[in-house]
Order: sequence, then structure tokens, then C-alpha cells
Amino acid sequence: MNELTIERYQSKRKKPGPTAKYRAKRKRAEAPVAKFVRAQCVDRDGDCRVCDWENNPDDYHADDLEFVDDLTFPNPSEWAHLGEKTRAKTRGMKPEARHTTEDSVIFCKVHHDRYDGRQKPRMFVKSLTALGANGPLEFTQ
Ligand SMILES: [Zn+2]
Repeated sequence: MNELTIERYQSKRKKPGPTAKYRAKRKRAEAPVAKFVRAQCVDRDGDCRVCDWENNPDDYHADDLEFVDDLTFPNPSEWAHLGEKTRAKTRGMKPEARHTTEDSVIFCKVHHDRYDGRQKPRMFVKSLTALGANGPLEFTQ
């Protein structure tokens, strides 16, 4: 009897270890906060904080900064964490501290990649007030 039943499959499956269980728990706790903050950023920025500049008319854009017309595939919207709030730098922090509207924006893939240095020319973002991304930002490259 070597029939593969659900019971046999389940018993052979590798059980998640303590690290995997901890990560899953963190992810579950973080999801609602991330979803809520990201939605607020979409309301504020549109498809891309740079390309949809009309949403934030007080932002400053350097003359040589390029806009991208097509904000659909392969240039979808992405949620970007700015400055000291990148995902890597906030690992282990509470979700409320990792994800804030002050420290995150919506970018199209092109501008996200330029900000993170995956694509040239590199784009730099500076906050012009204490409000972070909830106030005017400066984009240079
Ligand atoms: Zn863009």
C-alpha cells in the first residue's frame, strides 16, 4: 500500500520550524498595517509620485528628471520606503514604525528602480518639510 493519501502527504511534509513560524506570525501582524498605509499612499500619490506629479503640485522636480507615460505593465506601481525606513533597515521593528505615510511613497517601477539604484540615472528624494512624504518632496538625479 503505497498510495499517496492526504494523510501520508501531510505526515511527510516538513513541519515549519520556530523561525518560519515566527516569520509567518510577524507577516500576519504586519499585513493589515501595510495594506492600510499603502492605500493612503495611493490616495495621495496616484500611480507614481513622480509621474503623477499633478497630485502633489508642490513637489520639486529637477529639469532633467524624466517622466514615464505608461504606468501599466512592464512599469507597474510599487510601494517604496524612503530613507531610513527601507525594509532592510526596519527589520524587526513594529509594523506601525516600519510603514508610515511620511516615509513611503508610490513609485512606478522605473522610478522605484532609479531610487534604489537598480537603474541609471539614480534618483534622489529629499523631504522639504518635517512632514516627509506628506509634504512637498524634491526629486533630483
Ligand atoms: Zn514614475
